[in-house]
Amino acid sequence: MMKERQSAQILVTGGAGYIGSHTVLELITAGFGVVVVDNLSNASEQSLQRVTELTGQAIPFVNADLRDRSAMVALFQMNRFDAVIHFAGLKAVGESVSKPVAYWDNNVGGTLVLLESMERAGIRRIVFSSSATVYGDPQRVPIDEAAAIQPTNPYGRTKACIESILTDLATSDPSWAIGTLRYFNPVGAHLSGRIGEDPRGLPNNLMPFIAQVAVGRRERLSVFGDDWDTRDGTGLRDYLHVVDLALGHVDSLRRVLQSPGHWTVNLGTGTGYTVLEVIRAFERASGRSIPFEIVNRRSGDIASCYADPAHALALLGWRAERPLDQMCEDHWRWQSNNPSGFASTQG
Ligand code: NAD
Ligand code: UDP
Repeated sequence: MMKERQSAQILVTGGAGYIGSHTVLELITAGFGVVVVDNLSNASEQSLQRVTELTGQAIPFVNADLRDRSAMVALFQMNRFDAVIHFAGLKAVGESVSKPVAYWDNNVGGTLVLLESMERAGIRRIVFSSSATVYGDPQRVPIDEAAAIQPTNPYGRTKACIESILTDLATSDPSWAIGTLRYFNPVGAHLSGRIGEDPRGLPNNLMPFIAQVAVGRRERLSVFGDDWDTRDGTGLRDYLHVVDLALGHVDSLRRVLQSPGHWTVNLGTGTGYTVLEVIRAFERASGRSIPFEIVNRRSGDIASCYADPAHALALLGWRAERPLDQMCEDHWRWQSNNPSGFASTQG
């Protein structure tokens, strides 16, 4: 068993992305050493420059693809990591339906090269970004970790596949410490308004779409159906502040540094909000009105999805603390200060 050193060195894959950059900030604040590897396929290096500005600490950054074996071997030869937090992956459900091979190659292929590199370097501690999408259309809500794994799209199937690979790895060698985190719906931004979600093209997810309507980049929101079996007929989800999520990674990291074993936790608030409730909350936070129209249901959508987060509290002592109003306020601060995301300003 390794005693935690606050100076433990952590490799963060996908650390320039939305959740990764917020987690890097919290890791540095907690005293961990961080190296980021990211191929910038869905991120800007500016996110890390801004984390540096916020923390006063330079962040070693390697621009590489996880599937590039020689780059990964070199990365592990040049550094002595204590653990890995693995965010890197493609995440758009719709795109995964039209480009399944690219999703399997990137998400599963990238993870395999990462795990090979870790085994070769003798590093057996990893925290992995899975998703509530592995539950598909759940039989009941709230969803606990024992619920059936039945993803309904290629993206979700790549996550379920990686979970199986990690299970096999833990079985093969119990000295591995593996934490699998099933996130519900991350939204919001760091309180500073300097980092946040910066989707490329048309946002797939609700909160970034609403934020772009509020800031005037899009005319109106399409609400995908008002005939769901929920309190107002619109889809209900468990929105989770990205800073709470980032802190969940710090807690998870501490756990994998402390003891071997394989565990899986939901990271969500345990409370669901409908699309109309999120629109109203965002209107309050921004002082702007959000024009919307009800359109047909989106293919593959489900009525309700929210977590039973009790296991994360019991295992990690983690619970989400930031309410929906704060998620909207912080998301709005980021969006209004950076109307075009990281492209809005230099530096
Ligand atoms: P993101 O796209 O902002 O971050 C992912 C990062 O990984 C990006 O910076 C991208 O450039 C990088 N990347 C992708 N493929 C890579 C590769 N082969 N090699 C190196 N870098 C690569 O996404 P995010 O929202 O920060 O999500 C992080 C992780 O959390 C992803 O694995 C995602 O599937 C998972 N997740 C996200 C959500 C969500 O709603 N945002 C929900 C559940 C799970
Ligand atoms: N949604 C919507 N319009 C949009 C995007 C999303 O009405 O432009 C709805 C969607 O149908 C779901 C909820 O908002 O009920 C959350 O969708 P998101 O894609 O953010 O998360 P997911 O469905 O993947 O949990």
